[in-house]
Amino acid sequence: MTELEENKKISRLKVAPKIISRSDHIISRMQISDSALKVLYRLKNAKYKAYLVGGAVRDILLGIKPKDFDVVTDAEPEQIRELFRNCRLIGRRFRLAHIQFGKEIIEVSTFRASHHISDSNEGHERDGRIIRDNVYGDIDDDVWRRDFTINALFYNINDFSVVDYVGGIEDLELGQLRLIGDPKKRYVEDPVRMLRAIRFISKFDLNVHPLTENPIIQFSYLLETIPTARLYEEMLKLFLNGFAFKTYISLRKYDLFIYLFPQTEQVLTQNKKGYPHEFIKNALKNTDQRVKHGKSVNPGFLLATILWAPMRIMIEEYSSNVHSDIEATKLAGDAIISKQISSISIPRRFTHMARDIWTLQARLKQTKRKSYRVLMHPRFRAAYDLLLLRAQSGEPLNDLVEYWTKEQLQEPQIGKSKIKTRQKRNNSNRNTKNSKKKDL
Ligand code: ATP
Ligand code: MG
Repeated sequence: MTELEENKKISRLKVAPKIISRSDHIISRMQISDSALKVLYRLKNAKYKAYLVGGAVRDILLGIKPKDFDVVTDAEPEQIRELFRNCRLIGRRFRLAHIQFGKEIIEVSTFRASHHISDSNEGHERDGRIIRDNVYGDIDDDVWRRDFTINALFYNINDFSVVDYVGGIEDLELGQLRLIGDPKKRYVEDPVRMLRAIRFISKFDLNVHPLTENPIIQFSYLLETIPTARLYEEMLKLFLNGFAFKTYISLRKYDLFIYLFPQTEQVLTQNKKGYPHEFIKNALKNTDQRVKHGKSVNPGFLLATILWAPMRIMIEEYSSNVHSDIEATKLAGDAIISKQISSISIPRRFTHMARDIWTLQARLKQTKRKSYRVLMHPRFRAAYDLLLLRAQSGEPLNDLVEYWTKEQLQEPQIGKSKIKTRQKRNNSNRNTKNSKKKDL
């Protein structure tokens, strides 16, 4: 037996899981989506192991409706595909199966071995980050590669028990977030775990275990090494989960916000209190309210608000050099966005939207002419919402808010008459074209 195999055996022997039987926990199949149950049962009937894992188990135990369901099994991706017609294998580094049921996707992964036991160096870069994570294993390998104890609970479809290797149940009861393994190593392996920690403590109102908490400030700089596209995905999860304001407070507390929005952080640090703080608080609380009421929050609008404080300063800087407010706003928008995308990459449609919302702030000031054009702008409503937030946070804009609030009420008449005029013009153009065609 090689040293590696021996280590593996020892580590397996050392940890016996706690099995919480069906009568001793609250997870019932009623709380699991039909699609997830179908997947679990089909795997089980084909004699594979199948567990519900991760966020869904955690959420149900916390009394929260899960937003999606992840399944883990000992079936390998190709074997999973053989069982499900509606299955697509994704991922290059590690293949996962996505099983589609209408709009719902059940993600099924094969047990993976953690590098702590697969090989001490293999799969890690010299600085400790994970570069490969693609060795199949069993449940007692897979559990150690997961991030937090509360995310490492497995619900076994075979006997409806919950399998807990890491004290996750106890941590849930204590309301505690704790990394599995050596926290320093785990943050170095994947610095995004720091952002995930903030997301979970904010969303579930958890305390952080001191050993999980202490290294965060020390290692926050590692976020600079994360691809900007991944940071964008994480940023959305952080700010669109209904707890954006709490999350933002914690991100700042642990020096992490600066890696997502450095320009905003700079303004906030330069002004210990006052407008920028007030504005971002109102904006994020407003976002949280929308999410709680089931309304959509557009990432473009979110960006326009999070970046508003530095944007406002940048507009002032440009205003002294160029003639019009609109021009200054456009130039400032370009400058802010081009700096921002070096931290997190943002799809172009959303940076365009943020720019439009900002430019409309300048156009909203011009109340004397062409209001209908502003009202008809596809981003008018978002621009108006930003204007409200600005007024609410202390900018002297109440008259403007009143004006645009009234204008909107009149919008149908103004809009319709203008639309009619346009339609008439279009029709007459079309008629002329058609008659020209006939002439030909
Ligand atoms: P959410 O409610 O946001 O979906 P989640 O815990 O389900 O929370 P996912 O990103 O869906 O998060 O990941 C599913 C599971 O995969 C996690 O619960 C965790 O066990 C594991 N996991 C995800 N990301 C990491 C990571 N960066 N490091 C280690 N394990 C991870
Ligand atoms: Mg999940």
